[in-house]
Amino acid sequence: MGIDQELLEKVVGNTEECIFVLNKSFKPIYHNHSNCRFFKSIDVDSFELLFEGEGRKEVKELLKRIRGSIPGASVAGDVEARINGSDRIFSLRVVVIESNDEPAYIVYLKDVTQSRLMRKELVETNEFLKKIIDSSVDGIIATDLKGNILIFNKGAENILGYKAEEVLNGKVNISQIYPPGMAKEIMKKIRSPEYGGKGRLNPIRVQVVNKNGEVIPISLSAAMIYDEEGNEVASVGIFSDLRYILDIEAKLLEAQTRLLQAEKMASLGRLAAGVAHEINNPLSGILMFASMVLEELPEDDPHREDLQQIVKETLRCKEIVKSLLEFSRQSEIKIEPVDVNAIIEDELKFLEKQTIFAKVKIVKQLNPAIPKVRGNSGQLKQVFMNIMVNAADAMPDGGTLTIRTYASPDLKKVYVEFTDTGVGIPKENLNKIFDPFFTTKPVGKGTGLGLSTSYGIIKSHKGNIEVESEVGKGTTFRIELPAYREEEKKGGVSQEEELIRRVLEKAQRY
Ligand code: ADP
Ligand code: MG
Repeated sequence: MGIDQELLEKVVGNTEECIFVLNKSFKPIYHNHSNCRFFKSIDVDSFELLFEGEGRKEVKELLKRIRGSIPGASVAGDVEARINGSDRIFSLRVVVIESNDEPAYIVYLKDVTQSRLMRKELVETNEFLKKIIDSSVDGIIATDLKGNILIFNKGAENILGYKAEEVLNGKVNISQIYPPGMAKEIMKKIRSPEYGGKGRLNPIRVQVVNKNGEVIPISLSAAMIYDEEGNEVASVGIFSDLRYILDIEAKLLEAQTRLLQAEKMASLGRLAAGVAHEINNPLSGILMFASMVLEELPEDDPHREDLQQIVKETLRCKEIVKSLLEFSRQSEIKIEPVDVNAIIEDELKFLEKQTIFAKVKIVKQLNPAIPKVRGNSGQLKQVFMNIMVNAADAMPDGGTLTIRTYASPDLKKVYVEFTDTGVGIPKENLNKIFDPFFTTKPVGKGTGLGLSTSYGIIKSHKGNIEVESEVGKGTTFRIELPAYREEEKKGGVSQEEELIRRVLEKAQRY
């Protein structure tokens, strides 16, 4: 070929690789010394004997694969081997040549220990970072500038219902997981200096749309990612599901509203009790003296009628005072086991004949298996009557009144529900209807004392009264009453129980 030996030596001596020439039985017959320093001696019968440990087998395997191949064929592979007591990784390539009509082999060998270790470290670091990203409960999504999703962690999978493989590689664009127009809006905010600095977005409340099309409220913070020259390359968003928090907030607000309502009722109760007590005594005086004078007047006295009027009106005032006392739970009640189904049946017999019920259809769903309740039948009758008359009033053109009784699964509570198909109660009135004297009925028709009295009575029964209503559709009043416990009959309430009861009662009142 015209290249002399010396030049050839220089050529192979200047590569980074260690080059061997093997004869047909794989015995090394040449190597370029300068790059093969890690082999002390190459005086072995077969090339693989230069390697110790596991690597020797691998090298032998490679050689076996190339044996008998035509010139120009090659095999390659990485081999981890021990040489002179140190573990190294080699990249190996064996090429078949022909020399003097016999096959021979060139082996190109490169020590890649350092670079393989670095690559391994890099992979491990990447794995580690991936694990960190995946272990976050928060959703983390990174996208390129076109909105293709590059990272979609487990948190994002959980919140959005997509698996990473369903969204990566351009399968879903980031704009698809936001309501229309929202993704653009967010990018604008990230780029603007106003929401946490340029390229950053401090947490804001937005919505995402999950795989099923449900809208989920989230808290999102985001950032732009730049390259060394400061060009935008990607953006990353970190977000958390707000459903749970919003749920708690709503519950808290509801609890707060209830508390306010209870407090209002308590102070109204104290006021009502004060007024009622103050008025009760003078009223009794008026009634007594007017009755006495009336008795003494002769049958034909022209003043008799006036006095009768005074007695009648005073009795009406006394009725109101009684209602107020009932509202403020200051009236004495006698507790007994009460069969609510029987009371309702009884009252309906009377009510059905009244003209205001003429156009009202009554549906009874009274469960005969419910336990008796702990209460006063006279007072409970009054409560049911109030509610049923209100229902009839709400259905001047007719409708249906459904009365349902049922018990809790543990039979400790009994529920009585009255549902009408009447005019309903506007939202703004819902927290007023139990106030004494609140009425929407014309003067002479309503006193506004029906529900307040009922409220007081049910509370003194340690029960609850609730209302649900929709304007134009109807109203449901639900009363919860404690079931009568058998042991009470034997008068078997211990002193401790009685004490606890009283403390609880006080706590409830304040
Ligand atoms: P009154 O019946 O004397 O007005 P209540 O205390 O019984 O007083 O009721 C207070 C108010 O609550 C009523 O004026 C009415 O506005 C409203 N209300 C009560 N029950 C119903 C009902 N079933 N449907 C619609 N509104 C009702
Ligand atoms: Mg009423």
